[in-house]
Amino acid sequence: MSSEDEIRCMVVGDIQTNCYAYVSDGKCMVVDPGASGARIAQALSDVQVVWVVATHRHHDHVGGVRALVEATDAPWAIGAKDAEEATKAVELSSHVFSPSAMEVEDPPAPNRVLVEGDVLEVGNAAFRVYETPGHTPGGIILVGEKSAEGVVFVGDTLFAGACGRTDLYGGSWEQMTRTLERLSTLIDPDAVLLCGHGVNTVMSHELKTNPYLQPGAWRPSFGE
Ligand SMILES: [Zn+2]
Repeated sequence: MSSEDEIRCMVVGDIQTNCYAYVSDGKCMVVDPGASGARIAQALSDVQVVWVVATHRHHDHVGGVRALVEATDAPWAIGAKDAEEATKAVELSSHVFSPSAMEVEDPPAPNRVLVEGDVLEVGNAAFRVYETPGHTPGGIILVGEKSAEGVVFVGDTLFAGACGRTDLYGGSWEQMTRTLERLSTLIDPDAVLLCGHGVNTVMSHELKTNPYLQPGAWRPSFGE
C-alpha cells in the first residue's frame, strides 16, 4: 500500500463490526458500514466517498448503508447473489437486537451488483472483486491493486485464526471449504487482511497457524 493512502477503521453496531474507509487522493471507499451511517459520514467529511461496499448481506455489515449514502450521495454495491436479501437484512435479524438503538436500517437497492473480476477505483487505488461464498451465498473479498496492493478486505470469510460461520441462513460449509482452499493460493502471503470483526492479520501468518487453512482441513466430510 502506498504511504500516501490511508485506512481508517470505525467499530460499529451490536456485533462490533469493523467498518473501514480506504482513502486515496481525497477519495474514499467505505467497506461494511454495519451501523451508524450518519456518524460514519461525519467522520469522513474531509474526503469524497466514491463507493460504499458491503462484503456480504448481514445486518451488521449493511445496517449503516442507507444513512451513509443519503449523507454522501455515494453509490453502493454488494455481491450479486447477496443483493436482494441485503435490502431485508435488518428486518430479518431484528428478533436478535433492537434496530433503533443500534442506528441500523435496511439499505436501499444497490446501485451496482458486483461479480468476480469487477474492479472498483478509489483515487490511485483499485480493488478487484473475488466471489467467496460460504458465510453467505454472495460474499465477496476486495483485493487491493495499484496503490492498494497488499491490502485485502476479507469481510467475514477469514478471521485471525478462524473463518466465518456457516450455520446462518444461506451459509454453506461445503462452499466455505472450497473458498478457503482457493484463497490459500489466491491471496499474496504478504497481504494484510482486514477482517469484518476482530484484529487484522497477515496472510502468511494465517497460512501457518489458521486451522481452517491447513491442507487436509478442506473437504472433511461430504459423504466421501
Ligand atoms: Zn456476517
